[in-house]
Amino acid sequence: MQNTLKTSVTFDGVGLHSGLPVKMILRPAPAGHGISFQRTDIELGNTIIPARWDMVERTALCTRLVNEAGVVVSTVEHIMAALAGCGVHNALVELDGPEVPIVDGSSAPFVRGIMKQGLHRLTDPVVAYEVLKPITVEHNGAKATLLPSDRTRIEFHIDFTDEAIGRQSKSLDLRNGAFARELCDSRTFCSRSDVETMQANGLALGGVPGENAIVFDGKTVESGTGLRHEDEPVRHKMLDALGDLALAGGPLIGHYVGERAGHALTNTLLRELFATPGAVREVTCDLAMAMRLPGQGLIWSEIPTEVARVA
Ligand SMILES: [Zn+2]
Repeated sequence: MQNTLKTSVTFDGVGLHSGLPVKMILRPAPAGHGISFQRTDIELGNTIIPARWDMVERTALCTRLVNEAGVVVSTVEHIMAALAGCGVHNALVELDGPEVPIVDGSSAPFVRGIMKQGLHRLTDPVVAYEVLKPITVEHNGAKATLLPSDRTRIEFHIDFTDEAIGRQSKSLDLRNGAFARELCDSRTFCSRSDVETMQANGLALGGVPGENAIVFDGKTVESGTGLRHEDEPVRHKMLDALGDLALAGGPLIGHYVGERAGHALTNTLLRELFATPGAVREVTCDLAMAMRLPGQGLIWSEIPTEVARVA
């Protein structure tokens, strides 16, 4: 059955790119609502933005949604991943600013906040999107693929010139609470050289190395109390991919493979999936299918605490 939140959950913080303070309130929503955002700081016009692939505005560094009225919300990927990874199918995400708070750079504070309050089970079955045909998109040496599968699997390969990152690969079946256990605490990262470029372009203004982002510089790592996983960067790319794929409009049943892919390419992949005849179908999940969805089998004690585990 579909889930929503048992009660509202509030998060305070700053936007990673805007640097602006923001309050985010996750509110319960009825079956069939899906996930949508609302800008409470804007009084006129339509301030609701559905969390859907066709609302994505092309950006390289984060996922930004925009509605017909031009109302935007940026950096939605980490809260979308948390909602998908916890099995929350319906919620209204209120924001009093243009960007989701970055918190610690990961989805773990959102996962802990959501699961502490608990979920409310609704009476309608989950509607998911099942990949039926392989779809691949490529751009500038990056590649993203969706393959048919009976479950949600995310596979990622990265290759960075910073020696402290290098080549990393990981593949994970997202049932049995795997998102919360394996991915949710991995943080946003970038190279030192990117920081100056971003800030010169008015981005990453709220970024604090070690506090809400990891900054790699060759062999050097600015990560606060240490990395949370030896392969934290590839895990964060998988977290981003889950959040971006959640913009399908419901759980996506298929095997995603990202090779140096980013937000824009994953969105192009979803656009291609929905534009290709016979490549995807909407399915009402039976019990066996529902048991394989992300969020099933999540155990509170397996949600990571804020303690870093790798020196
Ligand atoms: Zn991210």
